[in-house]
Amino acid sequence: MKILLIFSIQTQLNVMKMSIFLIPIKMENLYLHQKYLCQTMKPWLSKSAQQFRKQVDDCYPDRDRKSDGWVASLAHLSRAAKSDHNPDVKTGCVRAIDITARLSDDKRIPEYLADQVRLYGKSKGRISYVIFNGRIASPVLGWRWRKYKGASKHTHHIHISFKKDQDNNSAEFEIPLLKGN
Ligand SMILES: [Zn+2]
Repeated sequence: MKILLIFSIQTQLNVMKMSIFLIPIKMENLYLHQKYLCQTMKPWLSKSAQQFRKQVDDCYPDRDRKSDGWVASLAHLSRAAKSDHNPDVKTGCVRAIDITARLSDDKRIPEYLADQVRLYGKSKGRISYVIFNGRIASPVLGWRWRKYKGASKHTHHIHISFKKDQDNNSAEFEIPLLKGN
């Protein structure tokens, strides 16, 4: 009788444990489903871009944000049909950010940061291209800086585009100026 009782309690505990385990999974699915629906309806910034911007904000809390940006304005949409500032038509993901080129009193920092982003893209991937001060770096020419021929020379901000397969990757960027380990 005693053994049976223990067994019964044990079984009930197991059932309870299982149900406790199952509830969060169901809610997680629902959450993901709702999140997906939201994403298809409104623009959202790539998780990698969010992480990058967060590291910039953490390292330079008093930085100028005048030329910051992510999602394209309607005017920009019509001007640059292929810009990474335009939301992905299927998911709504925006894969580019602009960081104002005034991070601190030291005016050399943006130049150094752009170069560290270039080296990160070269060695770790995650980045499609970086534009700053009339130059662009991407896998074309093996991540060497080359002249940027676009309309804006990007002197007021650093433009960083992130790869599509990084949309949901919020891992830290190992970039020295962004205190990445
Ligand atoms: Zn841009």
